[in-house]
Amino acid sequence: ASFAAGVETLQNEGAYAVMAAAKALEQRTGKDVIHLEIGQPGFDTPQPIVEAGVQALQSGQTRYSNPAGISSLRHEIARFARDQRGISWCEEANVVVGPGAKPALFFACLALVRGSHDRVIIPDPGFPTYNAMVQVAGGTAVPVKLRTDQRGYNMKALREAVDEDTRVVVVNSPGNPTGGVMPEDDLAELAALAREKDFWVISDEIYAQLCYEDRYVSIGSMEGMADRTVVVDGFSKSYCMTGWRLGWGIMPKRLAERVELLLVHSVGCTATFVQQGGVAALQKASQQVDEVREIYRARRDLVVKGLNAMAGVRCEVPQGAFYAWADVSALGIPVRELAKRLLEEGYVAVLPGTDFGEQGEGFLRLSYVSEEAALKEGLRRMGSMLKRL
Ligand code: PLP
Repeated sequence: ASFAAGVETLQNEGAYAVMAAAKALEQRTGKDVIHLEIGQPGFDTPQPIVEAGVQALQSGQTRYSNPAGISSLRHEIARFARDQRGISWCEEANVVVGPGAKPALFFACLALVRGSHDRVIIPDPGFPTYNAMVQVAGGTAVPVKLRTDQRGYNMKALREAVDEDTRVVVVNSPGNPTGGVMPEDDLAELAALAREKDFWVISDEIYAQLCYEDRYVSIGSMEGMADRTVVVDGFSKSYCMTGWRLGWGIMPKRLAERVELLLVHSVGCTATFVQQGGVAALQKASQQVDEVREIYRARRDLVVKGLNAMAGVRCEVPQGAFYAWADVSALGIPVRELAKRLLEEGYVAVLPGTDFGEQGEGFLRLSYVSEEAALKEGLRRMGSMLKRL
């Protein structure tokens, strides 16, 4: 092998590959592609956040800061976690800030996985970074299928997958790529299992503020979970801040200290002025988050309705995030081929479900972050292309 075992077989995130292919097609043909593959908000970052970042730059906050994050941001995050997620045990010392949710996921995984005997259960279909981080950490990833309604793990399959070597179970609710929110009963069952079998839970809650249900429950708020939960969240999705690179992890202090050391020796710290944008987001932008969520809700309804009107396509109503997970298995075409044809013949970019795991065969992921007119046009192109198959 030319490279480290955990790196040699790494693959690109499908969204990046499809975006590149779509851009190339646009250049080659001069035609526009409707982009339903992208997982980032089209809105600008709310103004109070931008102003706080600019102000911080102008006032000279351009030096190294605490590797785990500036105190004011950790304080705000801890308050947010207690008030909005019911994570009553969260204090400043439990919060580690990093350049995105991805590094928080990665470093928590690196700190927890002790060797290939440590098994990490990940959702299938699921966010590709979960598999990558386990691979790099040298653990064994165990993909477990979801419920047929896509609302998180199939609990029977999960119970069967757990054994004495299970070190971590990764939860992602609302989930990428399905938009599914795990029912509270299933979360409670998982929490009980974690206590009984003594494993950790990494709960990726990056879409929690984009949950369309009345109530959101974090597994980190459940009884007996304070010692064994890492709650990962960030600013990218809910505050339209993907390019700022800012996220966090909430975890027991003893783990936070280890993750902080990983940050010390890798990124050093997260950009200081960027963190001031984060403080402003938590203090001043909750109304914008609510507004954006309602816009996405309307787009979700439009896209799901449009998909279900196509012959051979079925789509559950997702409860969160900004993705529709369309069941196209009735069309009988491998989804990688279908997605390629939709792009090259229909000029609409979507992701094949197989980018998210083996269980994604038969599904396409459509992101509904774009404006209504683009979504309508995307659906129109997809519908007419499917008719021509
Ligand atoms: N977690 C999930 C489930 C995601 O879908 C994404 C982004 O696509 C991330 C984490 C990454 O977030 P960040 O931009 O904060 O690194």
